[in-house]
Amino acid sequence: MSIEKFDGIVLKETELGETGKRLTVFAKDIGKITVSAKGAKSAKSRFSAPSQLFCYSSFSAYKNKNFYNAVTAEVIESFYEIRTDIKKLAYACFITELTDKNLMEGQSADELLKLFLTALAVISKTDYDERLAALVFETKFLNLSGYFAQADKCAECGIEITDEGIFNASKGGVLCRDCGTLCGGEKLLVGTLSAFEYILLSKGKKMFSFRVSEEVLFQMEKCLGEMIREYMVMPENSAGFLKSVK
Ligand SMILES: [Zn+2]
Repeated sequence: MSIEKFDGIVLKETELGETGKRLTVFAKDIGKITVSAKGAKSAKSRFSAPSQLFCYSSFSAYKNKNFYNAVTAEVIESFYEIRTDIKKLAYACFITELTDKNLMEGQSADELLKLFLTALAVISKTDYDERLAALVFETKFLNLSGYFAQADKCAECGIEITDEGIFNASKGGVLCRDCGTLCGGEKLLVGTLSAFEYILLSKGKKMFSFRVSEEVLFQMEKCLGEMIREYMVMPENSAGFLKSVK
């Protein structure tokens, strides 16, 4: 057995025996893995802080057949501000569960990890609307997973969308007027169409630099919800929590 080093963020923590924790970690270069942290429940443990939800740490661990056994862990970023605000916490929990439920074990997904860390940083450290931050994350997550390719061209016929966009989740996103009339869907507000176009064409922190009206937020939420239910696994635990803070 050799020791491996990796940086990763805790997506989920469950109990392991009386004092330990079993962590679901989203690690750079490796993807989603299970890490056991002995004694992590004790406040005196060296794993006490790094084993918390949302904590991004540098680990060293022995690799067993199906999981890693943590030897050391040092916190890189705890995103502790998330815990100081119930809304920040609710949206962060939602995107974390969404990531956990839709990430295959042991398959590296560094672009998604970068997006996830950026979204958490925006939610925890800025006053950017956490609801919009979560929607930006969802749009790009769907895109990275191959489901929401574009919003500036029709998902059905490929023609450029100029004046009117119709949203149809099962057809893969935005349709032109003709395809929308044929296949059905919801007419998008100009603001919703521009928001989707902007997100899908931008990268990094820039994605989180626009604001929209309440009406647009509501429509984005509805469309993305339909698309997640169509192609992915929808979070259950955090969805209820989210409803309670809205
Ligand atoms: Zn079309």
